[in-house]
Amino acid sequence: MVGAGQLARMCGEAASALAIDFSVLAENPDDPATQCASKVVLGKPDAAGLSSLLGVAPVVSFDHEQVDLDALVGLAQKGMAIHPGIHTLQMAVDKAMLRRRMAENNIPQPKFVIAQEESAAQRKNTIVSFAESVGWPIVVKPARGGYDGRGVYFFQSANELDAICEESAKKEIPLVVEERLPLDVELAVLIVRSPRGEMVHYPVIRTVQEDGICRETIVPAGISKEVEDRAQQIGEQVAAIVDATGILAVELFVTTDGVVLLNEIAARPHNSGHWSIEGAHTSQFENHLRAVLDLPLGACTQSAPVVVTVNVIGGEKDSADLTAALSVSRAHIHLYNKSYRRGRKLGHVTAIGDDVEEVRSRAWDSALALGTQPLVERESR
Ligand code: ADP
Repeated sequence: MVGAGQLARMCGEAASALAIDFSVLAENPDDPATQCASKVVLGKPDAAGLSSLLGVAPVVSFDHEQVDLDALVGLAQKGMAIHPGIHTLQMAVDKAMLRRRMAENNIPQPKFVIAQEESAAQRKNTIVSFAESVGWPIVVKPARGGYDGRGVYFFQSANELDAICEESAKKEIPLVVEERLPLDVELAVLIVRSPRGEMVHYPVIRTVQEDGICRETIVPAGISKEVEDRAQQIGEQVAAIVDATGILAVELFVTTDGVVLLNEIAARPHNSGHWSIEGAHTSQFENHLRAVLDLPLGACTQSAPVVVTVNVIGGEKDSADLTAALSVSRAHIHLYNKSYRRGRKLGHVTAIGDDVEEVRSRAWDSALALGTQPLVERESR
């Protein structure tokens, strides 16, 4: 696996149970996955680092998408099996390419325009005329390079646009400009596809986002059957269009009018699926391995009526108290072995049970004991 963050770490845990040899390309010897890998290759996800994986494993997969895709093309030509494929990775990396491709296929999305002119002034013109047609505020996302909400900007008026237009024009990165939707909830659909043509999907997941970071996931999502079916249908269509192999996470918006629209995709195990370790009959990590190795896929059904996962995000200071967190009954703690930093994803806690509020409160009690930032409820913002 290219990258050795927490997603690779949890894939390594799943690989261990199946006695699969699992190697990681790690940038640092103490990256989260290095504790759970049978072999650690040190290197960056660039041409040199990626070529050091030739011959290491029959299949290469990914913990993140910030990979030198041109180098991957060369390695594929030398016979390296890459899952998901390069074309799928491109869609996950480039928000402009994704929006265009999905528009061609009539997938419902927010209204958008791509500003990719050479000059900052022209970009600003494009954005302002779009904003005047859909109404302010608008959302601007550089096509590449964002992660965890850090690549998303909300603008109220034209005079706030100069810096982003200048910077993106200088770096020659297109800007995806979207209407700001009135959101009811955000959802994720996780689809698993294998080269032999099998496909399975997890139940629709509700993701609770704050400042662009997923704070909590809730299964079942608490939505109508109609919205759930629509979400699942869009997820499957998107997975077919991008020809995914392994886990494809499809992030969706549900507007206050109940309309389901595509936000973005991730072509790898995803934060919205961590609940599946204890909450589903096969975890997303195991299913990702099964899929990329073309083994039979496992059932994605829930193992309990309610499953809540809370991310542990570094709070004001390092106040993690593992003893207190473990004293919360039936809270499953996963720590990623990362050093504390404010705002950093350090771990997660999953609780399972029968009643949403009771399960949520156990998951939060344990995560708060681990020092996570409290959730500022949307209403009070
Ligand atoms: P990232 O790729 O950095 O995770 P996203 O595109 O998923 O960024 O956006 C992060 C969050 O910003 C979303 O989860 C959502 O809450 C909000 N957001 C993004 N686009 C829109 C939009 N068009 N309208 C309203 N909110 C949005």
